Amino acid sequence: MYPAFLRLKDRKVVLVGGGRVAAAKLQPLLHEGARVTVVAPEIRPELEVDGVELQRRLFDERDLDGAWYVVAAAPREVNRQVLDAAERHRIFVNAVDDPANATAYAGGVVRRSSVTVAISTDGRAPALAGLLREALDAWLPVDLDAWLATADELRREWKRDGVPMEERRPALLEALNQLYESRASNSQASNSRSQTGVSLVGAGPGDPELWTVRARQRVETADLVLYDALVDAVAVRAITRGQCFCVGKRAGRASVKQDTINRLMIRAARQGKRVVRLKGGDPFVFGRGAEEALALTAAGIPFEIVPGVTAAVAAPELAGIPVTHRGVASGFLVIAGQTGEPLDAMLDPVRPNSLTLVVMMGVAGRDEIAAQLLAHHWSAETPAAIVCGVSTCDEWTWTGRLAAIASAEPPAGIAGVLVVGEVVRIREALAQAQAEPPALARAASLAEACLAGGCGGGELQAKAEGDRVKYGRS
Ligand code: SAH
Repeated sequence: MYPAFLRLKDRKVVLVGGGRVAAAKLQPLLHEGARVTVVAPEIRPELEVDGVELQRRLFDERDLDGAWYVVAAAPREVNRQVLDAAERHRIFVNAVDDPANATAYAGGVVRRSSVTVAISTDGRAPALAGLLREALDAWLPVDLDAWLATADELRREWKRDGVPMEERRPALLEALNQLYESRASNSQASNSRSQTGVSLVGAGPGDPELWTVRARQRVETADLVLYDALVDAVAVRAITRGQCFCVGKRAGRASVKQDTINRLMIRAARQGKRVVRLKGGDPFVFGRGAEEALALTAAGIPFEIVPGVTAAVAAPELAGIPVTHRGVASGFLVIAGQTGEPLDAMLDPVRPNSLTLVVMMGVAGRDEIAAQLLAHHWSAETPAAIVCGVSTCDEWTWTGRLAAIASAEPPAGIAGVLVVGEVVRIREALAQAQAEPPALARAASLAEACLAGGCGGGELQAKAEGDRVKYGRS
């Protein structure tokens, strides 16, 4: 495989295929100034770009007349035809995810100003190329354009002054080292305490309007954002120009291991990147924030903590349930209720029904948790609530008796808290005092926010069912 970079400006390039894969290939070609013709029976709207010629029909060998390069992003049998035609035209074909029908391989590419690094695995392991690409991207300095400018300038000077070849390399290294050192001291002088190292940031329970001002500012100016699954990814990506990686559990995929997250943070911070570790709620409430802070301390990386609005308080609150209320509950206990774990150590020291109990990560195990509370002499009649997906499009609330908590049917896969205690009654009182249930008033603005893009469209519904409010996308 012979590595080369192509100058495509003003040259005809044919893109065969009109689906998502083809759409992903269009921008890089346009970026290089290629004159692109798209050929496919069906072409997605995102390929309808000014200056791009569209041919809504099957590929024909004559499409390659006058072309310098062809990208085949079609079904394999079509790619095969493209390959045959390209061979006869003596041009190279890049067949996306179809190495057997390709003669050119684009590989993984890392770009930083005018520096381009491309990785080839001879077409055998595109996924490995992708991983190497990410690794290189994390490793290369963020201000590579300054390195490039320095190297370029020195090269001209040395040529002019006739500096011998063998002296150039050590001199370049020295110049770059100076650049590196001045960057490090500049960033110490010009950045406030909060701008260096890692920010461990809480993102609240869901709605980005519940981020703190500081959280928002840190995300905006980050070079790298590592966010959890409960964080609104659309909002994160909308306000930062930094790289964003989801390190939490996503549908069907395992989360990134804690060790790996620590290593990613430490490595990026050592490169001088501003790293934001963005977590749902508050970073120190069942968020492993302190573990990460300890790992950063051990590695000598400066960090700051930006507290967030914790779902432990905000979820009941936004459902109209105060965790404390004068004369009703003068304290609250927040516990983790993962399935299968006995709660004795936490429940034994507590007088039954003496305070508000908030259980996080406990919706799936609510049956077992209720049984344990009853066994610890909490009254079966204690008011209880399940509050899910607060401040997201999937908000859902149930209220009833502790003994009936197992009969509730919360939506699957939506984070929720259990609230047990007399304070749950206050929700009803608030609902009666208002013309509509407290949460319903919020539904309209929530619906607006969701439709404006936060929740990926779909028709949002909010309806009251008895004392519950249900929101959802139809
Ligand atoms: N650090 C987070 C909690 C992480 S543990 C915080 O301070 O909020 C995850 C648990 O938080 C979930 O199992 C659920 O109990 C709760 N949770 C997170 N987001 C929520 C939301 N939008 N609505 C209700 N509960 C939520």
